[in-house]
Amino acid sequence: MRIDLHTHSSVSDGTDTPTRLVMKALTAGLDVIALTDHDTLDGIQEAVEAGRRMGIRVIPGVELSTRQDGHTVHLLGYGCDPFNQELAEEMARIRVGRTERIPGMIARLGDLGIDITFDDVMAQAVGSPSVGRPHVADALVAAGVCQARDEAFAKYLGPKGPAYVKRYLCPLGRGIDLIHSAGGVAIIGHPWARGGDEVLTAPVLSEMVSKHGLDGIEVAHQEHSLHDQELLSEMGKRLGLLRTGGSDYHGKGKVNNDLGCQTTRETALREILRRIRTRGGANF
Ligand code: AMP
Ligand code: ZN
Ligand code: FE
Ligand code: FE
Repeated sequence: MRIDLHTHSSVSDGTDTPTRLVMKALTAGLDVIALTDHDTLDGIQEAVEAGRRMGIRVIPGVELSTRQDGHTVHLLGYGCDPFNQELAEEMARIRVGRTERIPGMIARLGDLGIDITFDDVMAQAVGSPSVGRPHVADALVAAGVCQARDEAFAKYLGPKGPAYVKRYLCPLGRGIDLIHSAGGVAIIGHPWARGGDEVLTAPVLSEMVSKHGLDGIEVAHQEHSLHDQELLSEMGKRLGLLRTGGSDYHGKGKVNNDLGCQTTRETALREILRRIRTRGGANF
């Protein structure tokens, strides 16, 4: 059984609609995928329905934007009840922060002599309530300033880039609590990517387990070296954490992240599904 628990659609910053994503998962020989769009559950229903028709199991997921010690942490939530008010409100707050930072990024680009408008960015985010830097990148590509998203991140939008602007992030511990209160399972996505190894050390993860009941960590990810995957796997085992893997597929928006390039073991998926059932999470 081939299981990919980390994918994005055009309901956040991926380039395939949820239906097309499921179709591509079928072509890629996957049996199970989780749709984990950033800070929204809006694509879940379409993906689950497409999955039913095409014979792919779709696990409802989300990738929540959180922070720990000044660092961005992407928290994957599986099986969250979309009608849970607390979680819905926090995601709405995060999405407002996403949109509110766009004018600041545009102003910084303007200082560099690059003229794109708020509407140019929003035109790239049609169908997505969750506007992100990839949409700004797409606007730069559409304006002929950059060739692809990658180049826009490397030159302007990365955390040290000249057009980078911070946004609101939910504290990590609170994110875990919110996912649990919505009946879901909380797993830290790519914990050691993008400098996360400095922040998400064994003591911090251990505290997240003891204080918040963190369920797991994503070990198999394109942005972890094989060596780090070994270390994370050992550490996760010692802390009693579930260990998962996923492609972080974004369609054409990200190279080297083909569907199914990283996968989760069936035993881990079974335990995730068992926990969702026990906690009364999303029924699917
Ligand atoms: P934001 O949500 O606005 O903070 O933007 C972060 C998103 O940008 C994440 O989903 C990443 O997958 C994506 N991203 C980061 N670096 C790159 C890159 N070099 N090329 C394409 N997408 C990227
Ligand atoms: Zn993304
Ligand atoms: Fe992420
Ligand atoms: Fe992701």
